[in-house]
Amino acid sequence: MALREILIVPDPRLKQVSARVEVVDDALRALMDDMLETMYAAPGIGLAAVQVGVARRVIVMDISKPEDEREPRYFVNPEILWASEETAPYEEGCLSVPEIYDEVERPARVKLRYQNYRGETIEEDAEGLFAVCIQHEMDHLDGVLFIDHLSRLKREQAVKKVKKQVRAA
Ligand code: ZN
Repeated sequence: MALREILIVPDPRLKQVSARVEVVDDALRALMDDMLETMYAAPGIGLAAVQVGVARRVIVMDISKPEDEREPRYFVNPEILWASEETAPYEEGCLSVPEIYDEVERPARVKLRYQNYRGETIEEDAEGLFAVCIQHEMDHLDGVLFIDHLSRLKREQAVKKVKKQVRAA
């Protein structure tokens, strides 16, 4: 496994629409292993492949509590089959938009279909942090960042702040 570099806004590669994965094979599993290691090292709770410059519909996630055992999860070609009318706000952050947090309103519950690490097709309901995280990560697959859900002013301020951090680093 190897650490990958996480792209930071305003990198235009984050705006790419990711392509569907045809087959879950060892090469894809190697990518998912790298993504997971990169996510844990950051540290973060979710990462989409496009954030490490690979525009394919792959997400890794671990929303277990820090004091609990790790529970890595893998989502290949995730789709939302149903979303609740009811929405819920959550203060989101993103490894590609470091140190910026803001509230985003999304459907509170969703029904998902995806392929897992072994390529099996799974249908699953998500709510709470899981629902927030999967919707945030799935946005990445379509080139959308959480700051794109904010007002234009807030989005521009966020990008400016990140640029300043990057320059200072
Ligand atoms: Zn993100």
